Amino acid sequence: MSKKINTNLIKLIKYYSLINYNIIYSNQSINRYQKNNFDNTGSKSLKLKKLAASISNIKNCALKKNATNQVFADGNANAKIMIVGEGPGLNEDKEGIPFAGRAGELLDKMLASINLDRENVYITNVVNYRPPENRKPTEEEINKYLPFLTRHIEIINPKILLLLGSTALSAIIGNDSVISEARGKWISKKFGNNQIFVITSFHPAFLMRQPNQKKMSWIDLKMIKKKITDLNIKIEK
Ligand code: URA
Repeated sequence: MSKKINTNLIKLIKYYSLINYNIIYSNQSINRYQKNNFDNTGSKSLKLKKLAASISNIKNCALKKNATNQVFADGNANAKIMIVGEGPGLNEDKEGIPFAGRAGELLDKMLASINLDRENVYITNVVNYRPPENRKPTEEEINKYLPFLTRHIEIINPKILLLLGSTALSAIIGNDSVISEARGKWISKKFGNNQIFVITSFHPAFLMRQPNQKKMSWIDLKMIKKKITDLNIKIEK
């Protein structure tokens, strides 16, 4: 090795030891989940109350300003299956309950087809206030609510997480995933200290517009049913 290359190499090594070279060389994906400062004390129901209160305290949010009610969750907080939709619509905004309208009716039928109902699943959305005119939440809105959603998942600590539609997919898995390719596949993902099986499927509102896709949704539902059996999850009736 020539003397010049040698000197340059020594300079480079000194440089990398001064900076955190892991940041440069890390080939891990960028962590979209920022460390949060949520208070982790108390029972599950207290943690959920505190989470709902912190969502009420979100500042500078146009969604919140225009909404009637916060739509936090529905179902059983001890359920092993958690479902994430997109955001409240008109009915949900009025009633303060996720999936309270027509998409909710279809969701209930989908759940019933694999012997589930709102007594044994837990349901929330990416954003907790209705986007005006039922538009999709923007990237900025999704990112604003993401720490609350991930905290919500940590508190519920389900064994199975079902993401309904592209907004939930992009919030939890990332923007570069396309729903037609991502659906019907299990991935394992860590939320806090918990490793959770995650699957994506079509949103019921999409299925109402594209009923020919219901056959794909049925494949995904059967995968969930099989996972419930494989994980020995007891469904209380
Ligand atoms: N669509 C959703 O994604 N969530 C709801 O709560 C209602 C409709």
